[in-house]
Amino acid sequence: MVEFCPKCGTILIPKKDKEKILLMCNQCGYSKELKSGKGYKSRHRVEEDKKIKIMVMEPTTMDKEKITAHKELLQEYYEVLLETMEQEEMEQEEI
Ligand SMILES: [Zn+2]
Repeated sequence: MVEFCPKCGTILIPKKDKEKILLMCNQCGYSKELKSGKGYKSRHRVEEDKKIKIMVMEPTTMDKEKITAHKELLQEYYEVLLETMEQEEMEQEEI
């Protein structure tokens, strides 16, 4: 469920924009709307083996600095995404 920029291949970071959630590229400024809800809904917290699988997917040609930066981005990505999902669940419970 991690998405990459179609223009430059950078990982897209979710950003909140009022009611919408945008997936933003920090590299070239590309953004698209994140389809909120069902597909992204999961009660699971960040699963360790899922994270490891994403790491394995990274191109091995990357230098260490880039890999570290990428991991940090992934971490941020998941934190924001999970936070968003938790908030959506809370909002739904209020209705
Ligand atoms: Zn981009």
